[in-house]
Amino acid sequence: MKRLSLPFGYSMQSGQIVVLDTERTIVERIYSEYLSGASAGQIATALNDAGIAYKDVRGWNKNIVYRILDDIRYRGENGFPALICLEKWLAVAARRKEKATPYMEPAFQVVRKKLVCANCEGKLTRHLRKNKTAWWECRLCGRQTGVMDDADICHLIQKKLTWLYRNPHHIRNDGSAAQVSLESVRLERELTRLLADPTAEASKLDALAKQITQLRYLAIDPQNHAYKTEQILKTLNGTASQKDAADLLQKIVSRILLDKNGSVQVKLINGQIV
Ligand SMILES: [Zn+2]
Repeated sequence: MKRLSLPFGYSMQSGQIVVLDTERTIVERIYSEYLSGASAGQIATALNDAGIAYKDVRGWNKNIVYRILDDIRYRGENGFPALICLEKWLAVAARRKEKATPYMEPAFQVVRKKLVCANCEGKLTRHLRKNKTAWWECRLCGRQTGVMDDADICHLIQKKLTWLYRNPHHIRNDGSAAQVSLESVRLERELTRLLADPTAEASKLDALAKQITQLRYLAIDPQNHAYKTEQILKTLNGTASQKDAADLLQKIVSRILLDKNGSVQVKLINGQIV
């Protein structure tokens, strides 16, 4: 009965966890086949076809295979003897991460809250067309996009988050201070232009001045910057299971920048734009 609570490949003998050689071969096979490109479903089918028994009488399925691939005990942790060498286990983990779709598409309402003009970060007015399509106009600088599908914007965000998840090494602390100051130069130029324009609205000037102040604050506070960067990495770093994109947007993205050509970038809480 004890046997049931142990992972496949192990047995309890005189109070000791020992490796079952027949099952070790199968665990090794699963890891090797996955690394050579077989999907979890294909591996499960092949095991069932070969008449190899699993402790569950219903046989193998892809979820059992995933559980085996993700189980850190096979690399010799938590008091279990290693079945798979660390190198191979990590190679599988990397591949799992590569193939994962870590984020669901975020809901449009969540995206919309953070959507701003890529040129000046001004708020956008949504000019509704039909069937969840709209064109967007910046209230600050007046830039306009073509007609866009709400769902396409959400999909672009999902792709961006997935890219971030796979490339956390692109998130860095250095260099973004320069990026921040470049941006304030651009905003200050915009402010000068607006100040010279007698038709410019006071609210626009206010908003712009506020943004510049915020940016300056970020630029002179490297500690806060490092802290934010670490926070981003911590949030991104996790298992390969699906995560809540809305939650991620909430935690690491300060703005979603929509450009007039319909492209989307995100501005992270450390000021970095990706
Ligand atoms: Zn704008």
